Amino acid sequence: MYKIFKVCPFCGHVSEIWVDDEVFKRMEDGERIQDILPELPASEREILISGICIDCQEEVFADPDEEEERYAPEPEDLEDSQLELGFDPYEGSYTWDC
Ligand SMILES: [Zn+2]
Repeated sequence: MYKIFKVCPFCGHVSEIWVDDEVFKRMEDGERIQDILPELPASEREILISGICIDCQEEVFADPDEEEERYAPEPEDLEDSQLELGFDPYEGSYTWDC
């Protein structure tokens, strides 16, 4: 096993990651981490590649999907509510029977 030290370029935090001999050799050969250790969590892979520590990764790679989702009505919902209001999609106008 080799212990790899990676210094975070943002905060200087030193991350230590243990890799086995074969992995270390393949890294030395220039193979991509994702090819050598495809099952490694992306965050740990990122440390091996760039050294960016977990804390800084959260800031740098903030997931845009975590932003509040905006409610967008489905087309079917829209049609339903229009029908309830007496909207005739074929006539394209409102009709009231009162
Ligand atoms: Zn950091």
